[in-house]
Amino acid sequence: MIIYKIFLGVLVIAMNIIRMYYAKRYGTSHVATESEIAPKREKRLTQLMFFALAVQGMMWLFTGWLSFGQFALHESIRIAGFLIGAYSMWWFYRIHKTLGDNWSPVLEIRTEHTLITCGPYKRVRHPMYSDMMLWMVSFTLVTANWFYALTISAGLTILFQHPYPRQEKLMLKRFGEQYRAYMKQTKRLIPYIF
Ligand code: SAH
Repeated sequence: MIIYKIFLGVLVIAMNIIRMYYAKRYGTSHVATESEIAPKREKRLTQLMFFALAVQGMMWLFTGWLSFGQFALHESIRIAGFLIGAYSMWWFYRIHKTLGDNWSPVLEIRTEHTLITCGPYKRVRHPMYSDMMLWMVSFTLVTANWFYALTISAGLTILFQHPYPRQEKLMLKRFGEQYRAYMKQTKRLIPYIF
């Protein structure tokens, strides 16, 4: 049904607008950094993954090639999936806003870096990755397509599993005790649980 395509389209467009806005800001406000800059390989992997996810999104939206993966799902559940997605995009925006100039599309520490432990960063250390887990749920329910669900979940999981141990190492190096204390009182991905 066309409405679910509109749902997915709206979510993906919202995500890209938020991302592009902050990427543009990063481009203009970016000052000297210290420490590790993400190796080229990681940057390429990220780009490749985003590209693959975009291609399959287009396939679901505009062709019937993925129709073999459709499964039956009650309308109310698919609408709930969209609401979860809308909620997650609002968080996506808040996370970027909270990080402010500390946000970067690649792993790095700025010379003027500050440690953020408030807002979305109060309950988990990697809210952006927690947010991506909400996308997985949302996109799965909206598309009701197991092939789409499986590939997007695998893609996003690879995307965020890859860099975060190194990010924590960087933060420890820069913020030392302050970050260690933060790690002690704040979970990684799921508030109060993990
Ligand atoms: N993994 C994070 C965000 C990744 S954005 C999340 O899931 O929310 C990448 C940049 O954000 C990294 O270069 C890192 O330096 C910065 N960053 C991550 N957590 C931070 C924090 N608590 N305070 C300040 N900067 C942080």
